[in-house]
Amino acid sequence: MNSALAAPNADAAEILRHVYHGSGVTRAELTRTLEVRAGIVAAALDAFKDAGLIHFDDLRYYPSLNDDTDVTARREYARLSGARSCRTCGCTDQWACEGGCDWVDEDLCSTCDPTVMRLNQRTSFVVVENDATYVETELADDECVRLNIRRGESVCAVILTPSEAIAVATKLLMYASAAENDGELL
Ligand SMILES: [Zn+2]
Ligand SMILES: [Zn+2]
Repeated sequence: MNSALAAPNADAAEILRHVYHGSGVTRAELTRTLEVRAGIVAAALDAFKDAGLIHFDDLRYYPSLNDDTDVTARREYARLSGARSCRTCGCTDQWACEGGCDWVDEDLCSTCDPTVMRLNQRTSFVVVENDATYVETELADDECVRLNIRRGESVCAVILTPSEAIAVATKLLMYASAAENDGELL
C-alpha cells in the first residue's frame, strides 16, 4: 500500500467503500458526496489505484477488475477506518459480508462462525451412523469447500481450497472404487 495510506485514514476508507459500492464514480462525485478536499480524494484514489484495488477508465473509478480484491478492499476499509471488524473476513458494519451477517463475538461475524450450520442449496449433509455424527459440506462463493464436522457435542469446521477439495474427492473416489472391487457394499 502507498505510504500515503499507511496510517488509519477515515476519509480514504470512505472513498474506497464508495468506489466498491457504486457503479463507477468520478473524482468530482466523491469530493462532493463525501465533502472531502479534492486533494485528499485524488491522493487516496491514486494510492488505491497503485495498490491494484481500484480501476480507472479515464473518467470513473470502479472496483478492481480482479475478482479476488473484494476481500482485500474490505480488509483495507477496516484497517483505514478503524471500525470494528471480523478477524477472519475483515467485514464491518459498514461493509458487511455478501448476504449480510451479524456479530457473534467482539471480532467474529456470523459468516465466519465455525459453529453455525448453514443450510442452503449449496450445502449437502452426510450423516454417519447416527444423528450425533455428521459432515456438512458447503460450497462457498469463492469456490472453497467448507466442511462442518460434528461428533457428539463438538463441532469443527474445515475450509478446503478448490485444489484441496479436488484432492480429497479424488481420494474418496479411489477408496470407493477399491471397496467396490472388494465387493463391499458402499
Ligand atoms: Zn467474518
Ligand atoms: Zn461478515
